[in-house]
Amino acid sequence: MSLVLVFNSGSSSVKFQYVDPESTATDTPIVSGLVEQIGEPKGRITIKSEGEEYVKELELHDHHDGMTAAVAFMHETGLDKHRKDAVAVGHRVVHGGRTFSAPALVDHETIQKIGALTPLAPLHNPANISGIKVAQVLLPHLPHVAVFDTGFFNHLPEAAATYAIDKNVAAEHNIRRYGFHGTSHEFVSGLVPELIGRAPEETNQVVLHLGNGASASAIRAGKPIDTSMGLTPLAGLVMGTRSGDVDPGVLLYLLRNGMDVDELDTLLNRRSGLKGLSGVNDFRDVHRLIDMGNDNAKLALEVYLTQLRRIIGGYMIELGRVDAITFTAGVGENDAIVRARAMENLDFYGIKIDDLKNEERSREARVISTEDSTIKVLVVPTNEELAIAQKAAAVAQQQG
Ligand code: ADP
Repeated sequence: MSLVLVFNSGSSSVKFQYVDPESTATDTPIVSGLVEQIGEPKGRITIKSEGEEYVKELELHDHHDGMTAAVAFMHETGLDKHRKDAVAVGHRVVHGGRTFSAPALVDHETIQKIGALTPLAPLHNPANISGIKVAQVLLPHLPHVAVFDTGFFNHLPEAAATYAIDKNVAAEHNIRRYGFHGTSHEFVSGLVPELIGRAPEETNQVVLHLGNGASASAIRAGKPIDTSMGLTPLAGLVMGTRSGDVDPGVLLYLLRNGMDVDELDTLLNRRSGLKGLSGVNDFRDVHRLIDMGNDNAKLALEVYLTQLRRIIGGYMIELGRVDAITFTAGVGENDAIVRARAMENLDFYGIKIDDLKNEERSREARVISTEDSTIKVLVVPTNEELAIAQKAAAVAQQQG
């Protein structure tokens, strides 16, 4: 068996998985691990494999410490036996700017280019680089491949990517719509044509990646023509703790009225979205509060749906003809209420949900619209690690 080791390095955590690139989105990975609380007094490593869970707590000063300790722990648990099957290491990298439209084999130049994009993702790209560098030391004989969250959206039409601000300012600061969650949008949209029995080049679709972070994309013949996240992953839909779109004047107003930039950053990234409106960011809790008669939670759901439907409607007009609308990620895959409400009263546009199919709990990719719904509505589980593994394996194979 050929496996890919996939790393997703954040500012204080590293997730890793051994993935079989031939598996399906709902298969559990061979090994999955989480190194968390890096840089705090007590760090933790959790590794899961074949139904077993292994946990270790120890101080982890930095990424190097964290990943070295994780490798040692893999050895202790005997799980490093999988290393002999590894053919590549895939790294999730958040911002590829305009530089990267496809996965890149990691070498000195690739790392420099990712570093040069740090102003666009000041928290993420440095963490991604640390992760890559440590992994290269730990696994020197394997090809390392960087897979970019922005990559799929690199060639958005200029009109969709351009913000209507002074073009010289935009050019000087590289301000444009980059889009994120690209690996997921590409993976999910790639599965849809077969599920609805259409040729990929004749499929127009909307993909709704609704997780803690959330984004939408409009895709024509496999190519994205619009997406809801922008220069940063703050834009677009209402999210767990992020605001999504707000009037940019709100930011000026708050800055002029005593809030500083860091407070504003915290407000928009951590104290907004469902959390800001209802106090909780998990949709299961939002529904629980609604059932208890909580008005804030009710409003949070309505605000979420209003913004979601605005974007779906906009993308339908942009696409002209739409063949499929697909829900994915934590909320999209599991929350039948959000799906039903997002698609309600759209018969006029050829969208009809089959309530029984929508409410059925399943981990499989499936159509949830009625037979006579002109636009098919689907639930398709995403799996970013698998998608990264597939891309990394392909790049490694090209290298021979
Ligand atoms: P991310 O990868 O962005 O952290 P996920 O795609 O894993 O997020 O989605 C996590 C979110 O999915 C949770 O915060 C919760 O709102 C939602 N979620 C997960 N399971 C369910 C469920 N059974 N019903 C409703 N929402 C769910």
